[in-house]
Amino acid sequence: MLRHTLLWASTNPLLAQKLPRYRFVQKATKRFMPGETRDDALAECARLGKGGITSTVTLLGENLTSLDEADGVAEHYLATLREIEAHGLETVISVKPTQLGLDFGVDEARTRLARLCDATSSLVWIDMEGSGYVDATLDIFRSVKEEQGNVGLCLQSYLRRTADDLESLLPLDPDIRMVKGAYNEPHAIAFPEKSDVDRSFVTLTQTLLRARKNGGTGTPVLATHDPRMVAETNRIAYELGLDRDRYEFSMLFGIEREEQRRLAREGYGMRVLVSYGSAWFPWYMRRLAERPANLWFVAKQLVG
Ligand SMILES: Cc1cc2nc3c(=O)[nH]c(=O)nc-3n(C[C@H](O)[C@H](O)[C@H](O)COP(=O)(O)OP(=O)(O)OC[C@H]3O[C@@H](n4cnc5c(N)ncnc54)[C@H](O)[C@@H]3O)c2cc1C
Repeated sequence: MLRHTLLWASTNPLLAQKLPRYRFVQKATKRFMPGETRDDALAECARLGKGGITSTVTLLGENLTSLDEADGVAEHYLATLREIEAHGLETVISVKPTQLGLDFGVDEARTRLARLCDATSSLVWIDMEGSGYVDATLDIFRSVKEEQGNVGLCLQSYLRRTADDLESLLPLDPDIRMVKGAYNEPHAIAFPEKSDVDRSFVTLTQTLLRARKNGGTGTPVLATHDPRMVAETNRIAYELGLDRDRYEFSMLFGIEREEQRRLAREGYGMRVLVSYGSAWFPWYMRRLAERPANLWFVAKQLVG
C-alpha cells in the first residue's frame, strides 16, 4: 500500500514542484546522491575507483517537454563522456530514452543515443522505464546494437514479458543489466508478488549466465542489493563453472555500501550507479518505495 502511494507520488507534478523546496527533503536525498552536479558525481566515481569499484553515472530527469531539452541532455552526456576520458575514470553512462526524446518519436531517441555511442568506445547503457516504453526501447536497442555495437540494455524481472524479450535478444550477444523493476505496473503486465519477481530474477540470471558460459560476449550485470539474489547468482555461476570476472554486480550509490566493498574485495566486478541532477524528485520517490523504511530517514531530517 505504502509502496503504491510512494510510486503514485513519484508521478505527481504538484508534489514534484513543492516537496523538493523543503530543506529536510533536500537533506534526505544526500543518502542516495553525492550531490546535484556532474562534478559531485565524477568525484564520487574517482573515490569509488580507488577502492576497486567501477561506476555508472546518470543524469536525473525523465519525460521532456521539447526536443531542445533532449538536445541539451545529449550535449550534457557528450561533455560527461569527455570528462570521464580526461580523468581516466572507469565510468560509463546510463541514459533514459525519454530524456533523449522518446516521447517525440523512436527516431529522435535513437539518433541521440547513436551520437553518444559514437563518442565513446565504452558501453552506453539504456535504462528501462515504465512498461509503455518497453517495445520502443527494445527497437532502439536492437538498431543501435547492430549499427554501433557499444550499447547495453536494462531489463526488468517484474515484467511477465521479460523472459521472451531476453530470448529474442540473445542472438545479438547483448550486454544486459538485470533489475527487478521500479515502476508502478498493473498486475496484468507485472508480477504483483515479490516472490514471483525474485523467482523471475533468478531464472533470467540463469539464462544470462548460461549464455555467457556458452561463449556469449555480452557481460551479464546483476543489479540488485538483495543478498539472496547475489548468493543465487554466485551459486548458479559456480554450478556452471563460470569465473567471477565473467559477470558483474551493480548497486546504487549509498545502498549496501559494505556489501559493495565486500564483493569488490572478493574479486567480483562491482559497479556503483551514481545519480545526479536537480530533477531528482520522481527518482527519489522510487527509492523510498523500494524500502519504505527509508521514510524514517526523511523523518529524522525533519526533526533533526
Ligand atoms: C545499478 C542499478 C540500475 C537500475 N536501473 C533500473 C532501471 O533502468 N529501470 C528500473 O526499473 N529499475 C532500475 N533499478 C532499480 C531496481 O529495479 C530495483 O527497484 C532496486 O534495485 C531494488 O531492488 P533490489 O533488487 O535491490 O531488491 P529488493 O528486494 O527491493 O531489496 C532487497 C534489499 O536491498 C536493500 N534495498 C533495496 N532498495 C533499497 C533502497 N532504495 N534503500 C535502502 N535499501 C534498499 C534492502 O536491504 C532490501 O531489503 C536499478 C537498480 C540498480 C541497482
